[in-house]
Amino acid sequence: MTVQDVADVLKKDIDHVFKVLNFADKTGMTYTKDTVIHNPQVVRDIVKISGCRFKLVARPDAEMKDEENKDAVPAPPAAEEALRPRPPVVCVMGHVDHGKTTLLDALRDTAVVETEFGGITQHIGAFEVKLPSGGKVTFLDTPGHAAFTSMRSRGAHSTDIVVLVVAADDGVMEQTLESIRMAREANVPILVAINKIDKPGVNVERVLRGLAQHGVVCEQAGGEVQAVPVSALRRRNLDALLEALTLQAQLMQLRADPAGQVEGVVIEALVDPRTGKQATVLVRRGTLRRGCTLVAGAGWAKVRILRSAEGASIEEAPPSCPVVVLGWRELPAAGDLVLEVASEKRAAEVMRWRAAQRMKEKQQSDSEVIEAK
Ligand code: GDP
Ligand code: MG
Repeated sequence: MTVQDVADVLKKDIDHVFKVLNFADKTGMTYTKDTVIHNPQVVRDIVKISGCRFKLVARPDAEMKDEENKDAVPAPPAAEEALRPRPPVVCVMGHVDHGKTTLLDALRDTAVVETEFGGITQHIGAFEVKLPSGGKVTFLDTPGHAAFTSMRSRGAHSTDIVVLVVAADDGVMEQTLESIRMAREANVPILVAINKIDKPGVNVERVLRGLAQHGVVCEQAGGEVQAVPVSALRRRNLDALLEALTLQAQLMQLRADPAGQVEGVVIEALVDPRTGKQATVLVRRGTLRRGCTLVAGAGWAKVRILRSAEGASIEEAPPSCPVVVLGWRELPAAGDLVLEVASEKRAAEVMRWRAAQRMKEKQQSDSEVIEAK
């Protein structure tokens, strides 16, 4: 029904309905008297705020019409010529106490030393390490199964490589096997970090044999999986681990189109006491810039500020770059697909469409009318 219809049914002045709409519809769209209100919740809110005694009931004759799909959709795959190499996105997995957190801390410190900010890297869900060779590697900041699983978005997995941490003194354990299984199921290649090699009497060979028994045959054992002995605690051989990751990325020919519509995934979303609504976005294609309009799940943003994990304000975020985005009108949720849209008006339209879809899913579809109670 249109704004005018609602005013008529409620026997209210249309200016009253416009005023109430400002409260009821948070998408910030502009209404005229002929604007159709697609979201039944907005109608319900108008009724409530107006203090009227009406309710929404299903209208039997109004079967859902085939509405035009107003959702935002990803662009078709980019042309081969447009693709450029992009850094790998890495998730650290492995058995408890094998050193996942220590390894991430060590790698994060490597990242911080290279910045002029010298500050402490904030946990934003992911961070980037720049290599002397000019390459980069993006690490998801939360180790373990949860981060890996939450990186699935619309079927595509946003993790490119799993670093499987195996403590040399402990060897292959239950969660090592679980991590292997999860990586295989998601078709994500594994790179092994054999950790704690600083400990006296550790046996790397034994770890390699253990892995081979479960189908992870490392190069040292004649297979194809790279395995790098490291000490996360003593920060030994981390360069070799990073180089192995870049090599793996090259083998996989990880590429993306840095131009065109921005596409990404929300890694985390929260309300910061100082900066307000913020979300970390991992860019998958296109280049995210200030001023872009984004939709993600039930949220949308006019990008006001982009920040790196070190808190630096940055101008643009190319593919595989994790970036804190400020400017959300409504916050999205972790795992939501991020898409750039042409304008705020378009974002509002997508929000209304999605809100209406959610309603339909809850079987409170918009085949409803208001009727006196
Ligand atoms: P997580 O459960 O996999 O995240 O493991 P942690 O990173 O919390 O490490 C578990 C314990 O192993 C801690 O006491 C670490 O200090 C220790 N640890 C981690 N890496 C190393 C290492 O390379 N060498 C030694 N000796 N200890 C380590
Ligand atoms: Mg840990």
